[in-house]
Amino acid sequence: MSKKPIKNKVSSKRNVSKKIVKPLKKSVKKVSVKAGKKIVQEPIVMQPPRGMRDILPNEQEYWNRVRMVLDKEYPKYGFGRIDIPVLEYSNLFIRSIGKGTDLIDKEIYTFVTKGKDKVALRPEITAGVARAFIQHGMNVLPKPVKLFSIGPVYRYDRPQEGRYREHFQANFDIFGEEDSVLDAQLIQLAYRILGALGLKNVQFQVNSIGCPDCRKEYIDMLVSYFESKKKKLCKTCKARLKTNPLRILDCKEDKCVQVSANAPQTVDHLCNGCRDHFKSLLEYLDELELPYAINPQLVRGLDYYTRTVFEIWSTDEEGKKKSLGGGGRYDKLIESLGGEPTPAIGFALGIDRLVLEMKRIKAKSYENPKPRIFIAQLGNLAKKKSLKLFSDLERDGILIAESFGRGSLKSQLRTANRLGVEMTIIIGQKEALDETVIMKNMITGTQETVPQEKVLNAMKKILKSKPMIIKKKKINNI
Ligand code: AMP
Repeated sequence: MSKKPIKNKVSSKRNVSKKIVKPLKKSVKKVSVKAGKKIVQEPIVMQPPRGMRDILPNEQEYWNRVRMVLDKEYPKYGFGRIDIPVLEYSNLFIRSIGKGTDLIDKEIYTFVTKGKDKVALRPEITAGVARAFIQHGMNVLPKPVKLFSIGPVYRYDRPQEGRYREHFQANFDIFGEEDSVLDAQLIQLAYRILGALGLKNVQFQVNSIGCPDCRKEYIDMLVSYFESKKKKLCKTCKARLKTNPLRILDCKEDKCVQVSANAPQTVDHLCNGCRDHFKSLLEYLDELELPYAINPQLVRGLDYYTRTVFEIWSTDEEGKKKSLGGGGRYDKLIESLGGEPTPAIGFALGIDRLVLEMKRIKAKSYENPKPRIFIAQLGNLAKKKSLKLFSDLERDGILIAESFGRGSLKSQLRTANRLGVEMTIIIGQKEALDETVIMKNMITGTQETVPQEKVLNAMKKILKSKPMIIKKKKINNI
């Protein structure tokens, strides 16, 4: 049997997380012989695929805060939650997002299933929500239909900090209203969420890219402008001239930025309807006193956008801008997928980026409540009684810590001390038989024996009092 270790192909350079605590264990290619047949088992790489990562319990406090704020805010604005699969038929995305976009041409994960279905991991959430809207006949519901969804999305992009191949988005979609008052309300909701997360120093960039009617004329002008400067464009933008000329406007390459600066602007070529729509959006935002910047370069990558587009940017100490979220109108999307004409607007927040930004500015996180009481047990009968007591107290809403797997009282009390609890309930062999418990005050070290039925009230009394800050070195009587 060969035990030669093969080189782990995933180098630490490829890992997005900088905090690798331990070197990866080398995995070994296993060869075994079964019924005379040589079976080679590929080694297991002890990390997820490139650009994907674990979000460990000690990182959850920021994620929890984001989830809590979202859960609180979306119902206030009349959204109902919808959960949809992460996998859809590839055509849905190709049709809605459009060929010639980075998402479809480069980033989408597609594969053929064993049943020969062409499917894709969702590169964004709106297309799936639009599919669900049509499939479940939601067009007959009172308008507007507001849907909130949250979950992972997948993009085969070059990973770096803040850009992952699996990342999480909170997605808001409103179907059935054309009025720009909804656009303003959605931007207000985004402001509200970011404010509740402590992210006040962000910029809202808005633009209107018009409707298919006015955009056609505009794109012709844009193409002839860029054709005249073709030599100065990057290779990708030269190709975009044929596939998606609008996208040249938000290319980050210096030379393209320079060329784009003098390009015709969408807002100067809107039809009357689109101009009025954009104008009234800005009036609503002014009324709400929500600051914004009009960014004529903002076009967003996907085909389905019409009229309003917006993005939320943060700026770090080095002046680097990052998009925390973005969205816009997609008045033709439902129709293009075969549904009844239904105007719509939506936006998505990138949760990974929100968390990074919260960490950067040291915003408040959400820590799970800490137990103030511990149960320790000694002996088999005591363990049974403690397990039952834990369940009874927990049902009464009392948070308790324990280490039932441990046998030694000393080590259990050490754990209680490490957790900084104020009281430990001890059940030994004698107490288990007498139906009593010992209540040990972890601050003073004093203890008393009380009947089991009085434990609940005693616990409630402790929990009503203000939590004690426990200086661990004072407790030397354990
Ligand atoms: P988009 O639909 O591309 O505007 O994405 C919405 C939001 O998701 C962006 O504003 C980012 O905050 C976030 N986002 C997009 N792509 C990634 C990625 N690859 N990794 C992490 N977050 C992302």
